[in-house]
Amino acid sequence: MTTALVWFRRDLRLLDNPSLQQALRQHHQVVPIYIHDPEAERPWEPGAASRWWLHHSLQSLSQQLNNIGSGLILRRGTSLATLQQLITETGASHVYWNRLYEPALVARDKVIKTQLRQQGIMVSSHNASLIVEPWQVVKGDGQPYRVFTPFWRACLRQGLSFALHAAPDQMPPLPQLSSLKLEALTLLPTKDWARGLTQNWHAGETAAHHAMDIFIENGLNRYREGRDRPDRSDTSRLSPHLHFGEISAARLLHSIQTLGEQEGLLPHIECWQRELGWREFAHYLLYHFPDTPQHPFDPRFAHMQWEKDPQGLRDWQRGQTGIPIVDAGMRELWHTGWMHNRVRMIVASLLSKNLLIDWQQGARWFWDTLIDADLAANTLGWQWTAGCGADAAPWFRIFNPVLQGQKFDPKGDYVRHWLPELAALPDKYLHRPWELSDSQLLSHGVQPGISYPRPIVDLAHSRQRALDRMTPLKHLNNEGKHL
Ligand code: FAD
Repeated sequence: MTTALVWFRRDLRLLDNPSLQQALRQHHQVVPIYIHDPEAERPWEPGAASRWWLHHSLQSLSQQLNNIGSGLILRRGTSLATLQQLITETGASHVYWNRLYEPALVARDKVIKTQLRQQGIMVSSHNASLIVEPWQVVKGDGQPYRVFTPFWRACLRQGLSFALHAAPDQMPPLPQLSSLKLEALTLLPTKDWARGLTQNWHAGETAAHHAMDIFIENGLNRYREGRDRPDRSDTSRLSPHLHFGEISAARLLHSIQTLGEQEGLLPHIECWQRELGWREFAHYLLYHFPDTPQHPFDPRFAHMQWEKDPQGLRDWQRGQTGIPIVDAGMRELWHTGWMHNRVRMIVASLLSKNLLIDWQQGARWFWDTLIDADLAANTLGWQWTAGCGADAAPWFRIFNPVLQGQKFDPKGDYVRHWLPELAALPDKYLHRPWELSDSQLLSHGVQPGISYPRPIVDLAHSRQRALDRMTPLKHLNNEGKHL
């Protein structure tokens, strides 16, 4: 009788889990384990909102495994030492896991693979997260793509149809092993700031499938236009589920492909697939350019002079900039752990361009507050918006938050929801309350500078300041010397 350990990481699901399926096919005894080892992810160990999600996701996975006769062994410690300990305790001959792509984890997993193999343990790793793994697509000259569209075309050429791995309906019972209680991982906050998260989200595989069904039912047929509207619920909100691997990208593609025949749906399907493609591209870039969480993709931006503005950063974090669409987004983030993609771009542009605060400070705040905080997607999103990223977001593109608000939240429903203190303002001034006089503001229930701040930055001046600061960079070569 052979025993295998299945090491769950960010693949917290039973359906379409190749490691689990293969282990069950080949071994009599299969032991599902989770090792809490946040230090391995330094300097990007999970932030507070991610830890909240992880707690609930592990709880859900553990329950699912119990329901089919097994369970989840929880341990804490260095991954390699803990695996070795579990191998000794169980007599396991094999270890299975699904691959991760963050640089620190790639390096850790390589070491573990080598060490265990030297000990005579068989190690088997699988792709459970991506449609195309980073090394499977390269340009004709063997170099990685740096631009999304040709990358995605190359992925599409490989085809997007997959056989899914079935979920087990029965598993062998666990041997006698000690396991930590989930609470012992201390993932939940000690201060009760997570109420908004509890009200808005359910972690776990069942909830992920539910979110997919709701999106297919209610959002997909409006996605192409609706995806830019924070005042609507036309996007899938699957990002935390995808990050923690509660549902696979392959499963999502599988579900929507069967709908392609329905009238008018194809453009929306293609558009959504493309967004999943951006997720792929983010992982691809992080794998091939592993220092991008810390360094600008465009090396000329290493010479950028950022402002030191702790007060501006705090106002931005707290949703107190006096610019309604920005404050609404930052309050949505604080309250729910999530923010609409369009608004993420607007708030990131305000921080990195109008306030000229280093994008990495914004990325750090997102890291701690987003339930879907993902090193690949967060780095791509911030670098793209700051203008120093891989893809062709021109550095001189500076979002005008007033125009963005008027275009994508035309009736102001989103702003009114998150900034009730502005609710009585007329639509015309909702995205630019500073154009009303103090007495006009007061007549609409707004006490300027008291119930709602005056803008901390002049949008036109700060735009020009950003252009003046960035323009000289384009005359530099990669070493920072003038061309
Ligand atoms: P949908 O529109 O339904 O898209 C489906 C899925 O595609 C998403 O769940 C996500 O996995 C993927 N996706 C969509 N857009 C993008 C994108 N631009 N880049 C990468 N993947 C994408 N996404 C994260 O998952 N984690 C992050 O930490 C993160 N940080 C970001 C920071 C900034 C500054 C910006 C501009 C974007 C960031 N994004 C991040 C990307 C995007 O905002 C979210 O993935 C999206 O808002 C999630 O909502 P949804 O699930 O409803 O997306």
